[in-house]
Amino acid sequence: MASIKAGRTIRRLLLLGIIAALGFYGWSEYQRMAREHPERFPWTELSLADPIGPFTGDKLAGLGNEPLRCLALVDEVALANNFAPPVANSEPACGYADGISMAALTIAPSPGDLVTACPIAAAMHLWARDVVAPAAATHLGTEVTAFTHLGSYNCRRLYGRTSGNWSRHATADALDISGFVLADGRRLTLLADWDGGSEAEQAFLREVRNGACELFSSTLSPDYNAAHADHFHLAMREEAVGWSACR
Ligand SMILES: [Zn+2]
Repeated sequence: MASIKAGRTIRRLLLLGIIAALGFYGWSEYQRMAREHPERFPWTELSLADPIGPFTGDKLAGLGNEPLRCLALVDEVALANNFAPPVANSEPACGYADGISMAALTIAPSPGDLVTACPIAAAMHLWARDVVAPAAATHLGTEVTAFTHLGSYNCRRLYGRTSGNWSRHATADALDISGFVLADGRRLTLLADWDGGSEAEQAFLREVRNGACELFSSTLSPDYNAAHADHFHLAMREEAVGWSACR
């Protein structure tokens, strides 16, 4: 009897030891993963140096509630002082205090001399680097040297109506991208090339739209409606954590 009991105790201790070892292994594996791939976890801090992960879009949207944190993040990837002066408007729904001058960002392609709210600038940095550049290499065999756009800040309501919700453009939290200038001299526009471009050009435009959906709270493309036939509407919405529109 005594030896049976001793055998049970040893087996229990062994089992406990295995569980403890697995727990320790799991914990150290988790710590290694969180250190090497912080973008894979929802609770790690966003860094613009990291690649895009499944929670990057939510973290970018959350920056709308943390303007100082956003400005610090963008400052890390800026060539020069990139803060734009605040803009106020007699209409209280309009204006912004977290403007970023995109020309100062180290993104290639650059949207040029354009000011957007900080979360848009942060998302554009990742979109240009991790979506647009690889898609251009894959589908077009070249680089994108510039974006063409229809602007960001615009004190207006949705679709320019006289009443109803204000557009995200009213606070520079949206940017309309109309096309891409390529290093080989081509100029792609959404209006002409979304349906009219070569197969590769159409694939490029759809891939960069799909990639934008991972980053921006709202991505509206020519697939959505006629009002967006000539541009991608890319917008951030701080209350949109856990929610996004991709059309
Ligand atoms: Zn727009």
